[in-house]
Amino acid sequence: MQYQVPISDLRFLLFDLLGVDELQQLDKYAEATPDLIVTILEEMGKFAAEVIQPTNKIGDQQGCSYDPTTHAVTTPDGFREAYRQFAEAGWTALDAPVEFGGQGLPHVLKFIVDEIVCSSNLSLGMYPGLTHGAISAIYTHGSPELQQTYLQKLVSGEWTGTMCLTEPQCGTDLGLIRTRATPNDDGSYSIEGTKIWITGGEHDLVDNIVHLVLAKLPGAPNSTKGISLFAVPKVLPDSGERNPAFCGGLEHKMGIKGSSTCVMNFEGAQGWMIGEPNQGMRAMFTMMNEARLMVGMQGLGLAEMAFQESLGFARDRLQSRSLAGPQNPDGPADPIIVHPDVRRMLMRQKVLNEGMRALALFTGHQLDLSVALPDADGRQQADDLVQLLTPVVKAFLTDEGFNNANMGLQVLGGAGFTTDWPLEQLVRDGRIARIYEGTNGIQAMDLVGRKLGLGGGRLIAGLFGVLDEYLQDNPEAPHASELTDTVALLREATSWVASHGLEDPEQAGSAASAYLRLMALTVIAYLWSRMAYAAQARIASGEGDSAFLQAKLVSARYYYEKLLPETLWLARDINSGKESVMAFADEHWAA
Ligand SMILES: Cc1cc2nc3c(=O)[nH]c(=O)nc-3n(C[C@H](O)[C@H](O)[C@H](O)COP(=O)(O)OP(=O)(O)OC[C@H]3O[C@@H](n4cnc5c(N)ncnc54)[C@H](O)[C@@H]3O)c2cc1C
Repeated sequence: MQYQVPISDLRFLLFDLLGVDELQQLDKYAEATPDLIVTILEEMGKFAAEVIQPTNKIGDQQGCSYDPTTHAVTTPDGFREAYRQFAEAGWTALDAPVEFGGQGLPHVLKFIVDEIVCSSNLSLGMYPGLTHGAISAIYTHGSPELQQTYLQKLVSGEWTGTMCLTEPQCGTDLGLIRTRATPNDDGSYSIEGTKIWITGGEHDLVDNIVHLVLAKLPGAPNSTKGISLFAVPKVLPDSGERNPAFCGGLEHKMGIKGSSTCVMNFEGAQGWMIGEPNQGMRAMFTMMNEARLMVGMQGLGLAEMAFQESLGFARDRLQSRSLAGPQNPDGPADPIIVHPDVRRMLMRQKVLNEGMRALALFTGHQLDLSVALPDADGRQQADDLVQLLTPVVKAFLTDEGFNNANMGLQVLGGAGFTTDWPLEQLVRDGRIARIYEGTNGIQAMDLVGRKLGLGGGRLIAGLFGVLDEYLQDNPEAPHASELTDTVALLREATSWVASHGLEDPEQAGSAASAYLRLMALTVIAYLWSRMAYAAQARIASGEGDSAFLQAKLVSARYYYEKLLPETLWLARDINSGKESVMAFADEHWAA
């Protein structure tokens, strides 16, 4: 089935919900007119359907291959050409800095492009995806020389970037890394060590790959406070010589088979420090925060594709008669879309996907405001929301993106389990997004352990400010009273986590995942109320696609009646504390 960009929903979210058309009044985004934004979405939709999606299945079937004699990695058929067209069409440069050849457009558009690319071929999207984070890290923390050397080529897509953190003995706990950086006389460093599971570490899409590598300087503290970040190119830009940064093999994976996942051996490779000594985690977080938001869009992209496939199937597949009597009397049976249980699965996918898209684009819009608003307070408030919601977007969109893809597979019955249909690939591809870029458990720990306490609780106070203001100003908004109750639940849970977590960090640790879900469901409830409100206004004005707007009202109702009640048991889960989680002694596990 050909992927269709959810263009009506995107237009509604950008213009009716978020008012993105107002961005053009800010100097930084003066070019971002509504016409340009819509053209970009339409063009991306066409490009994804015609160029990217056709590479998806073959990428899964062929995977990448490795030649141990040359250390070369070959990507599946069609990837090289599709990537070339992607870069040439300027998609790698969309929101990149103008001074290095980027188009400087709003980040929220990049969020949308990420979703569309991942609906079409997640594996292919990984190569430019990580490059984008490398651009940000070098742009924010790199010296002018590093910026001049690397940014233009990365922005144009002529080169790609990687993120080299993980080593055999450390994934989550990066304080344990062993890769070493020894200073050379010319100001560069010699990098020695082995990294594993490096996405895009080696491939044949471009001639040069810029690795961003975490390593320790001689005598550095043995923790995350002793880590520095280095740019280590595959080919040295000045001399054109091959740097000894070699792929030592490929991982054999459950999904995203077209994305090369490499062991990387740095054998005295020449690198240049990005930022200050021992401040590597700070610089790497610039890249990781971006990557976390992008990974959230991966979850959503796959879920959207799964929804489109399962909806098409449910309309065609004839099985059994409707409980309300035959709906297709001339056929042998009714289409399965008439059955309440199939509709439950379709509604859950549609309503949650649209809610997740609203959450992601709300966050993307705040990201734009955080860099473009004229007043420092406004920028800070927007940045606070982005920081708070980044782990929520990453974890919730990948958890529920995966669950929704799985539910799409269920709609197809046995067909979904076969390789004749794309659902099984979507499920396999989506599983990793809950793990990499910091597992979703670690995202929850970041939310309760770091983000809640930042600035003396300023970030979470900012979120409550947004929710309270909406409810105060709009008492007649759809579902306002249920939203008021849900916000109160989140407030109580926040106090519980803050007070019990201070006394005993294990209390916060055991509540973290439930708390993150509670926050996600609450913010999405706020956005569903706003979406329904905006739809009501459009209906009253007599403008717009009436079926689309009516569907928004029903979807909001479904969300509040069928999905939001999960918040009640999440609150109970949180309040019950850590005791039953932590009570087992060693002998209880196998008892
Ligand atoms: C396909 C693929 C691509 C990848 N791409 C890259 C890449 O480009 N660059 C890169 O550097 N890495 C990459 N990774 C590595 C990935 O980021 C790690 O797998 C991930 O961060 C988790 O680390 P780990 O696998 O070592 O798990 P571990 O750290 O061993 O964790 C195992 C489990 O314990 C939990 N856990 C660990 N510590 C804690 C804690 N303190 N509190 C609560 N729970 C905890 C985790 O949540 C997890 O469930 C990739 C991995 C894969 C599979």
